Amino acid sequence: MSQPPKAPSILELFPEETREAAALLKQAVPHMMRHDIPPNPMHYALWYAYSRGLEPDLNRRLDKIVKDFDSFPPESALKLFRDFIIRGEIEDARAGQQQVMDLVDDIEVDVSHSVTGSQHYQNSLTLGLAALQEPVTEDLPNVLSDLQQSTQEMQEQQEKFLYRLRAAQSEIQHLRSQLERAHIAATLDSLTNVFNRHAFTRLLEQALSTDQHGLALVMLDIDHFKQFNDQYGHPLGDRVLQHVGQLLRDLLPPRGVAARYGGEEFCVILRDCFDLHSAHAFAEQLRLKIQALRIKVRSTDKILDTVTASFGLALANNSDTFESLLTRADDALYQAKRNGRNQIHPATPETALSA
Ligand code: GH3
Ligand code: MG
Ligand code: MG
Repeated sequence: MSQPPKAPSILELFPEETREAAALLKQAVPHMMRHDIPPNPMHYALWYAYSRGLEPDLNRRLDKIVKDFDSFPPESALKLFRDFIIRGEIEDARAGQQQVMDLVDDIEVDVSHSVTGSQHYQNSLTLGLAALQEPVTEDLPNVLSDLQQSTQEMQEQQEKFLYRLRAAQSEIQHLRSQLERAHIAATLDSLTNVFNRHAFTRLLEQALSTDQHGLALVMLDIDHFKQFNDQYGHPLGDRVLQHVGQLLRDLLPPRGVAARYGGEEFCVILRDCFDLHSAHAFAEQLRLKIQALRIKVRSTDKILDTVTASFGLALANNSDTFESLLTRADDALYQAKRNGRNQIHPATPETALSA
C-alpha cells in the first residue's frame, strides 16, 4: 500500500537557517535540563539566544541567575525576555514565537527519538546482563548494573522532559492567541478598526523604503466636525468616525492601507497607483459615500444631518521621505479646505513649496 505524502518538515523548507536554528536550540536544551528550567516558549527563546551568544550581557545575567537560584524565577525570565528578546517590538515577538513554536515541534521529535533510542539501549543491556550468568571478573556485573541504573535514570529524565514539553504545547497555543490579540490591539484603532497612527507611520516608512513606484497618499479630514460634536454630542460624532472607518475598509483597493491619523483625520496608502487620476477616482468615491451617509437617531430613524470631508492627494516620487510626502498631502488637504471643503485637491510642486 502506498504511503500518503509526508508534509515537508520545516527543516526541508528552510534547510540552512532552520538547521542552524535547530542546532542552537539543541544546544539550549541540555542547559535547560541541567538547571531544571521548565520548557516554555519564553525560556526557549532565552536559552536559544544564550546558545547563539550574540548578547554577552544576556549570557552573564542567565549564568548569574542559575548560579544564585535553585529554580529559575519567572519574573527574571520575563524581564530578560522583554529586555533582550522582545525589545518592545510585538511584531518581532510574534515572528519569534512562530519560529520557537516550529522548533519546539522539531525538538519534540528529536527527544522522542532519543527516548526510543535509550529504551533500545536498556533492552540490550538487560539482555547482555542475562547472558552473563558466569561473571568474567567479579566487578563486571556491578559495572553493568550501574550502567543499567544510569540508563534508566536517563530515560526517566527524558520521559519527564518530553511530558513537560507536550504540556507546553497548549501553553504555547494560548500564548500565541494572546500575542495575536496584543498585536491587533497595538496596530488597530479601536474606534474605527482601521490601522492606528503608529502602525500607519511604520507601514508608510516601510513602503517608501522598499518601493516608491506607484505609491500615493490620500489624506482626509471631516469638515466642521467640531460643530457637529457641539451640536449632536460626542457619542454621535464617534458613530460618524466608525462609519467612515467602515467605508474606508469597504472601498480600500488591494494592497491599500487605511489608518486613522488623528481625531477626525484619516490617511490611505494606495499601491499600484501611477497617476493622480486613479488616486482621485478613489478619493471621489469615498467623498460621495461620506456625503451620502445619513446620520440618524437610533430609536427614531430621524435624519439629523450629513457630513462631508475634504481630501488631499500626493503621489510619491523618488526623493520623497515620510515627512515630505505627508507634508504635500497635508498641504493639498489644506487647499481643499480653503477652496470651500467637501472636495479633493491634488498636491503640486507649488503646494510643496508653500509648506
Ligand atoms: P475643519 O473643517 O476645518 O476640519 O473643522 P473641524 O471642526 O473639523 O476641525 P477642528 O480641528 O477645529 O476640530 C476637530 C474636531 O474633531 C474637534 C474634536 O471635537 C473632534 N474630534 C477629534 N477626535 C474625536 C473623537 O475621537 N470623537 C469625536 N466624537 N470627535 C472627535
Ligand atoms: Mg475637520
Ligand atoms: Mg482635523
